[in-house]
Amino acid sequence: MVSTAQKPTMSYDEAIQLFELAADDLELEEELRLLLRMPHRELHVEVPIRMDDGSVNVYPGYRVQHNGARGPYKGGVRFHPEADLDEVRTLASLMTWKCALMDLPFGGAKGGVQCDPTTMSTNELKNVTRRYTQNIAHIIGINRDIPAPDMGTNAHTMAWMMDAYGQIEGHTPGIVTGKPVALGGSVGRESATGRGVVFVLQALCRDLGREPEEVSIAVQGYGNVGSWTATLAAEAGFKVVGITDVTCGVYAENGLDIHSLRDHLDQGGMLSDFQEGVELTNADLLTLDCDVLIPAAIGGVITDDNCDAVRADIILEAANRPITGQADESLRERGTIIVPDILANAGGVIVSYFEWTQNIQQFRWDEKRVTHELARIIEGAYEAVSALAREKRCPMRRSAYLIAVEKVAEAIRLRGFV
Ligand code: GLU
Repeated sequence: MVSTAQKPTMSYDEAIQLFELAADDLELEEELRLLLRMPHRELHVEVPIRMDDGSVNVYPGYRVQHNGARGPYKGGVRFHPEADLDEVRTLASLMTWKCALMDLPFGGAKGGVQCDPTTMSTNELKNVTRRYTQNIAHIIGINRDIPAPDMGTNAHTMAWMMDAYGQIEGHTPGIVTGKPVALGGSVGRESATGRGVVFVLQALCRDLGREPEEVSIAVQGYGNVGSWTATLAAEAGFKVVGITDVTCGVYAENGLDIHSLRDHLDQGGMLSDFQEGVELTNADLLTLDCDVLIPAAIGGVITDDNCDAVRADIILEAANRPITGQADESLRERGTIIVPDILANAGGVIVSYFEWTQNIQQFRWDEKRVTHELARIIEGAYEAVSALAREKRCPMRRSAYLIAVEKVAEAIRLRGFV
């Protein structure tokens, strides 16, 4: 399944504001701020391909390496009509903080090709992927920068990337993560982001003394992240009452049968013709009467215009930056608990790290080990973020950035940056 999750509308200027707030609290020296404000490297390439009808299209492609003080750059590649340089740069910076917060030995990067994969054939997608990979090959590498799937790309895209890179540099499975298991991918990588979201939700509910059976959830998005989040949350005993895809969704007050919904969709059905529940729109989903709202689709969906109508008292950001800056502030003033993206959706890059280490060691982990280690890392990060938020009496977004920025700053200082 091609992931349709995660489309942020946060600009790089807004991303920088989050960094500046943390930098102020940490009293970060001006030299470090200067260095961290600007991405390390931005590569803009053209990606020309011949379409199936014989015409030629040239797509803009990008790879932004934001900061590499803690290790090789790491981050996904998205294929999306709005994947422009500012968006890729913004997402690259989120990866720097996400990897640091999880204490992974990686810096942050992101890639993108500004194309619409929903209108392209498999052959066209393969050619875009190969050409893009050839054009960025000189700046990626197993110890330099390791791409992965993101919105509009999937395991198959990674197989093509690995192959295209291998033709230049020789067989190098660890050059990308999120590959098919048959090509050296890790078991548990596909479900990892959703699994991480559910681990964080469980930890939060334990803290709040709330039993899963009493907690109702609405999930926006049925791409890779949303579908796995809904499935695994239901398996963990939570009551998933609403779910939407790009077109529409379903709602059932007493909880949806997620497994039959999954079967229905796997067999080519649509959410709109699912027998159970009542139909609802994406806008309805955000304002559903439920305990937990999980935006797992595009960015910027909870805005100043609709945040007053949001009824959930907990929001887990499975998408990147689904809440705009102003809405974030209004919700916080109302006491809504917001688990930030760099914590809630880190499961994917955590298992990417496992995949990379397995590739380097030429060794395979089983699913039990992957799941156990994922839980250990993401729950540990949650504990650290929530403990600091309690200590500082600040929102979790602020404490997450404090931890992440401090870790990156420490690495830069230790290396001696000028
Ligand atoms: N694209 C995912 C993210 O934004 C995963 C990145 C990776 O595995 O490197 O976190």
